[in-house]
Amino acid sequence: MKDKFTITIHDINGVKQYTLKQFFKKIFIFLIIFILLAFVIGGGTIWYLYKRVDELTELRYKLERENELLVKKNKELQETIAKKEQELGELVAKIKNIEEMMGIKEEPVIVASTSKPKQKANKLLSKLEVDIKVRNYMFKHIPNGAPIYGRIRITSRYGYRFHPILRRRKFHAGVDLGARYGQPVMATADGIVEYAGWKSGYGKTIIIQHNFGFKTVYAHLSSIKVRVGRYIRKGQIIGYAGSTGRTTGTHVHYEVRYLQRPINPIYFINWRKKNYRKIFRKVRVVRWAYLVKVISRNFRSKAQKQQ
Ligand SMILES: [Zn+2]
Repeated sequence: MKDKFTITIHDINGVKQYTLKQFFKKIFIFLIIFILLAFVIGGGTIWYLYKRVDELTELRYKLERENELLVKKNKELQETIAKKEQELGELVAKIKNIEEMMGIKEEPVIVASTSKPKQKANKLLSKLEVDIKVRNYMFKHIPNGAPIYGRIRITSRYGYRFHPILRRRKFHAGVDLGARYGQPVMATADGIVEYAGWKSGYGKTIIIQHNFGFKTVYAHLSSIKVRVGRYIRKGQIIGYAGSTGRTTGTHVHYEVRYLQRPINPIYFINWRKKNYRKIFRKVRVVRWAYLVKVISRNFRSKAQKQQ
């Protein structure tokens, strides 16, 4: 027992004695167990954390993919919105254009409406297009504009006047338009030639029958280029200005008649597509509303058949 220490431990169970060798051995065993435990617990923890990292990384990738998809979808939606906005813009521009042509000043209400603006716009557009067709039809078939080119110079107006040759008050059933001798005279609307020849007082005269009860008269011509029964288009040259008949100089005597009775031609000469409704107020003998209704009904039924 020379080089051996003895360690004595007192506790409630009594006294235990260890030699130093035994003591170290036990400490060594505890140490091993402790290290092993540390390894097991540490390893487990590390393994668990690695697993968590893997899971979180995967989740991150998943979220990133979802985010990418959402960004893509958002981009697509924005492109669609931009496209729709452009379409709507084009539609509104088209309507504005049509309205300008028709002389309507009111702002269209389509943008403000909440439900199906495109459908509404299309409906409005088709209505306007019908209106334009009606208007174009009217401007082809009802007298409008002057029968001669260039600046209009009225030398004698419609109505009662003192006749320079007959030297008495007489009703002037048309207007006299100043013209050069031989200046072309054109039809002011489509129609059929009802009369082409000499007429007392009128000289060489053409009478054209138009749709809806209208007639036009062109008098004092130097020559006639059409025959009775011919279909004449608006703007077509029918004769040339002169001074045949009872005249004081070269001019075109121009009349517009409705149901055989003369109307002041000036309203028809000044009738333009821009302010085409103005004549509705000026010329009351014509039942314009009824006429427009009849023509537009015709176009609507045509449009329905096409659909
Ligand atoms: Zn005259």
